[in-house]
Amino acid sequence: MTSKLVLRSIFRGLRKRCPKCAQGSIYLRYITPVECCPSCQEPLGHIRTDDFAPWLTILVLGHFLVPGVYGFERAFTPPIWLHMVLWGPLIILLVLGLLPHTKGACLGFMWALGLSGDEQQ
Ligand SMILES: [Zn+2]
Repeated sequence: MTSKLVLRSIFRGLRKRCPKCAQGSIYLRYITPVECCPSCQEPLGHIRTDDFAPWLTILVLGHFLVPGVYGFERAFTPPIWLHMVLWGPLIILLVLGLLPHTKGACLGFMWALGLSGDEQQ
């Protein structure tokens, strides 16, 4: 039951929706979370995902981009300026595009487990 709730909350967060009702948006602006879900009033603003979302974004994109850059280099041996022009903006756009989704997934994961990010060991 708990794993089903966790997975459902993660997927709702990936869609940038409230992990409880899947209706309200979890963001006020780009990656600024709302204090409460606008649909069901579930408090979400106290959940601090901290570095979890950027770490997850780097982990996911790294698995696609590093082989992509390496394969591009091996296949075409382009000049370094072409790598910089191509990969620099592409990486920035992909990171900025993926970050709200990974942060939503982290928020959903933490919400499902009742974590707020302030836990002490
Ligand atoms: Zn909600």
